[in-house]
Amino acid sequence: MASFLFIAIMFGNLSAYARLLDNNEKQRYAANTAIFGGIDPYSIELKNFILPLDELPRITSEAVTNFLIFRVSPATQAEIRAYKSLDAFTQFASKWIEDIKALKINNSFCVIGKVMHLQKINSPSLNIWLSLSSNGDILNSHCDCVAGLGEACTHVAAVLFALEYVSKQEESVTDVLLDRAKIQEKFP
Ligand SMILES: [Zn+2]
Repeated sequence: MASFLFIAIMFGNLSAYARLLDNNEKQRYAANTAIFGGIDPYSIELKNFILPLDELPRITSEAVTNFLIFRVSPATQAEIRAYKSLDAFTQFASKWIEDIKALKINNSFCVIGKVMHLQKINSPSLNIWLSLSSNGDILNSHCDCVAGLGEACTHVAAVLFALEYVSKQEESVTDVLLDRAKIQEKFP
């Protein structure tokens, strides 16, 4: 009874998407939302994501690299290295990202992103979320692509690269997204 109640409470705030995950994945997913008091970012209405992106903590390349090394599967790491080795990760990131929004929850930050499907151009965009600590550590992430169940994939990486780029350039994400059209012209 007690464990049933615990599960009911734990899964009570999950989005329809998360409720369809298999049991192990669902428990892991729910645990990753603990930082937000158990609120699933996918269940938060978009209108609540009102934090200006320049108020996010600074994301260093070290934080991004650490996160990706520990979270991303070796196959995806190879893919990301290929992009990085082309020194094209900035265009890679900004070319595919459709939107990034942020919200402060407790002492952490929730970032959501909409990213084009890299492998299947005509498929619906993918939705990612990530949690950041107040000092810019990347805590957890999720993407609704198949690889995203492993909690990091090229779509998460794209958003991280964009945030890292913005921190470096002291440019706003909006400027980067506006530059996307120019970048697409340069790298068709
Ligand atoms: Zn993904």
